Amino acid sequence: MDSQDFADVVSAVRAFVREQVIPREEEIEEGDAIPEPLRRTARDMGLFGYALPEEYGGLGLTLSEEVRLVFELGYASPAFRSMFGTSNGIAGQVLVHAGTPEQKTAWLPRLASGEIVGAFALTEAEAGSDPSTLTTTARRDGDHYVLDGAKRFITNAPEADVFMVFARTGGDGSRGISTFLVEQGTAGLEVGPPDAKMGQRGAHTAEVLLDGARVPASAMVGPEGTGFRTAMSSLAHGRLSIAAVCVGLAQRILDETVAYAKERSQGGSRIGDHQLVQGLIADSQAELYAGRAMVLEAARAYDAGEDTKLGPSCAKYFCSEMLGRVADRGVQVFGGMGYMRGVAVERFYRDARLFRIYEGTSQIQQLVIARTLLR
Ligand SMILES: Cc1cc2nc3c(=O)[nH]c(=O)nc-3n(C[C@H](O)[C@H](O)[C@H](O)COP(=O)(O)OP(=O)(O)OC[C@H]3O[C@@H](n4cnc5c(N)ncnc54)[C@H](O)[C@@H]3O)c2cc1C
Repeated sequence: MDSQDFADVVSAVRAFVREQVIPREEEIEEGDAIPEPLRRTARDMGLFGYALPEEYGGLGLTLSEEVRLVFELGYASPAFRSMFGTSNGIAGQVLVHAGTPEQKTAWLPRLASGEIVGAFALTEAEAGSDPSTLTTTARRDGDHYVLDGAKRFITNAPEADVFMVFARTGGDGSRGISTFLVEQGTAGLEVGPPDAKMGQRGAHTAEVLLDGARVPASAMVGPEGTGFRTAMSSLAHGRLSIAAVCVGLAQRILDETVAYAKERSQGGSRIGDHQLVQGLIADSQAELYAGRAMVLEAARAYDAGEDTKLGPSCAKYFCSEMLGRVADRGVQVFGGMGYMRGVAVERFYRDARLFRIYEGTSQIQQLVIARTLLR
């Protein structure tokens, strides 16, 4: 995509998010669903496939472009981006990184158009931060594999048409894991009821149960035993995207905070005239600036092939923690209003909490960063 086309996409998405998504945020929260017209427009704008290759119907954005687009998407309810986040991100990237040409042709165009939704099923009850210990199994049976196990907290599972399932095909640890495409409707695959979550209403997670789910051998993605590597490379891409969402959402919260500080008065003066309130605003602006710069630099280094690991982990760690502090200061500046339902910063405070947990907790990012340096 040339730079003018990309600039046009960003400005169209910016207008869509601000003019159509933000006015419906409370409806998303109350209804726990993305309204169909928003879904349709997102589809028409190519948002289900911005990070998927152009030859398979996506927009084919580089990561440097993707993070700039995601800064805009992150400015509204995170559930909105989550609707197409897994198809572009952790699920879609599994196929981009490891799929055969046949698998890419069969699935990527449908994911990119939004005709179908993908999910990434790695986490289990006893294997979260350390997925190398997962116990879901895939047993070879003639021309098929038979999968047994249970995955939990799987984003978009209730809506997904296809699951990237990580299962043990033999051996202990990370080397014994392979990846499988499992279609919704496969006998033995069952999705549990949506989880009741703290925030991000409108985005759904659920358990995925596999009880003798039979898939053809051709459903294996990448060579046997490479599933862990596939999951990690898909997650590294996803981490930069999550960092960019955090920057977008932090910008939104800061804008809400500044607007309130200008309008609300106490003791005859605007609260924004109090230097202690100014300190809260200044800290958020300075950290947001650092986070945005870090994401852009990490994306540049990723695209250049210089660093696909350290930068994504640093950016995900810093930006998710930064967002937590910005959200907390936002609530503080709003005072009692910040604690009330129906006020955007209260909702964002709950929404923001997730980013420090999924796609690798902050502690796991610290381990990745330190181990990379110490190796
Ligand atoms: C809303 C939501 C959506 C999700 N979506 C998906 C999805 O689409 N697909 C998917 O596969 N998973 C998904 N997850 C799962 C998510 O990635 C895991 O919850 C996360 O990786 C943490 O795993 P855990 O919950 O098992 O926590 P645990 O691993 O039990 O961690 C608990 C605590 O211990 C700490 N800890 C664990 N190990 C270490 C260590 N070695 N050193 C230091 N501290 C450590 C953690 O940082 C954390 O603070 C989702 C989770 C949520 C909540």
